[in-house]
Amino acid sequence: MNNINELKKIKSSLPFGVSLLAVSKGHHQESIRNLASHGQVDFGESRLQEAIPKKNALHDLNQLRWHFVGGLQKNKVRGVIKEFNFIHSVDSVPLLERISRISIEEKKIPKIFLQVKFREDPSKGGFLKQDLLDSWSKIILLKNIHVIGLMAIPPKSLDLKQRKDLFCDCRNLANQLNLRDCSMGMSDDWEEAVEGGATWIRLGSLLFGKRQA
Ligand SMILES: *Cc1c(COP(=O)(O)O)cnc(C)c1O
Repeated sequence: MNNINELKKIKSSLPFGVSLLAVSKGHHQESIRNLASHGQVDFGESRLQEAIPKKNALHDLNQLRWHFVGGLQKNKVRGVIKEFNFIHSVDSVPLLERISRISIEEKKIPKIFLQVKFREDPSKGGFLKQDLLDSWSKIILLKNIHVIGLMAIPPKSLDLKQRKDLFCDCRNLANQLNLRDCSMGMSDDWEEAVEGGATWIRLGSLLFGKRQA
């Protein structure tokens, strides 16, 4: 049961330059097909093993673009590079170096968001801001990766005002690094994210209902 009305309402309210990523993890491929038939092109998955059979079942929809949004383990890098156009969750220099090396082998250039941890959060990965700034000159030399932006997930404990402040911090750091994109905002805080300068909002439950898995 998809919420096509919600999709249309949100899409029409987004400012120019802000895109909607439909995060379909835990939802059936036919739900993806349904949203795709209403014009949705970008879909996010967080597990390679779950994404591959869905992508195979939807291979007739060759307009779709796939975004990896989950924690990326070293041994999944090659598969993710082969299957996904965007990776939203790269959180260390060694992981970036590995992606670069394998992208060269696979003749791919994935679009990458660097996940940044702007507040203390033991449950989430991410670069610390200062570490990212210190590593930046090294990162921009890596081949076959296209770092397009930053990604942030606020800790669950923050209220909406505090989340908006975090989203603004993410926007400011992206600007400082000359990056256009900020992937931020989920079903319960996407409006604050747009106000804070998101260019990609990542919506799951608002479009697909509560997850099955
Ligand atoms: C699941 C997920 C989402 C979507 O979350 P909702 O709250 O259901 O909108 C967005 N981003 C990431 C990284 C996710 O894992």
